[in-house]
Amino acid sequence: KLSAENLRISFGTKDVLKDINVSFREHEITALIGPSGCGKSTLLRSFNRMHDLSADAKITGTIKLDDTDIYGNDMHATEIRKRIGMVFQKANPFAKSIYENITYGLKINNLPHSKDIVEKALREAFLWEEVKDDLKMPATRLSGGQQQRLCIARAVALRPEVILMDEPCSALDPVSTLKIEELISSLKDRYTIVIVTHNMQQAQRIADKTIFMYLGEVKEEGPTTSLFEDPKHELTSNYINGQF
Ligand code: ATP
Ligand code: MG
Repeated sequence: KLSAENLRISFGTKDVLKDINVSFREHEITALIGPSGCGKSTLLRSFNRMHDLSADAKITGTIKLDDTDIYGNDMHATEIRKRIGMVFQKANPFAKSIYENITYGLKINNLPHSKDIVEKALREAFLWEEVKDDLKMPATRLSGGQQQRLCIARAVALRPEVILMDEPCSALDPVSTLKIEELISSLKDRYTIVIVTHNMQQAQRIADKTIFMYLGEVKEEGPTTSLFEDPKHELTSNYINGQF
C-alpha cells in the first residue's frame, strides 16, 4: 500500500535518513519509535511530500502509494495530501469555526461538504456529541484533546487511504490520550495508520507493528508484541527499556 524504497534524505550536508525500506499495510497501525533526532518526523513528512517546502532537502529513492510514485509528476501535492492525511503533535485547527474546519479541505478538494458529511466526520472522531450545539464556535476555544480530535475529523473527512500522526498525544493529559488511542484503534479498519510516539505503552496498546529507528536507519521492525517482548537488537532493547 504505502512504501519507501532506498529512501535517503539529506538537508545540506546532513544525512538524516540513510537507506530506509519500509512498507505499511492496510488496516494496520504501525508505530514509529526511536530516540529524538533519529528521523521519525522526517520520514513521516516525506510520505506526504512536505519536504517540497524546504529548499535544501535532497531526496532519493522511491515512495509509493499503491503504484503511484509520490514524488513523480503524475500526482499533485493536493491530491497526495487528500489521500494521505496528517495529524501533528500540536493540534492545529484553523482559526475558524468547528464546522469550517471540516468543510475547508472538502471545498479545496471539490468534495461534497453538506452538514451530513460534517456530522459523519465529527462522529467518526468521537467529537459530535460534544460539539453538535457549538458548530459555529471558533475551534481554538476547544480543549486540547477536542482540538486534536477535530484535527483527526478534518483528516478523515477527506476519506484518505493513509493517516500519518506525529506524536498526536504528547501534548495531552492521560485521559485525553486514552480517548485518542481508542479513537485511533477504531479507525484502523478503514485506514492505514502510521503513528510516531515516544510513549512505549501507547505503542504496545495500539500498534500492530512497530518500527525502531536509530540515527536515520531502521534497526528493527516486527509485530509489536515480539519487538517489545523479544527485541533482536541490543539498541532496541536499550531504547525500550528507557536507557536512552
Ligand atoms: P523527535 O523525537 O525529537 O521529534 P525525530 O526522530 O522526529 O525527533 P526529526 O525531526 O526527523 O527527528 O529530525 C532528524 C534530524 O534531521 C535532526 O537532526 C534534525 O535537526 C534534522 N532536520 C529535520 N528537518 C530539517 C530541515 N528542514 N533542515 C535541516 N535539518 C533538519
Ligand atoms: Mg519528531
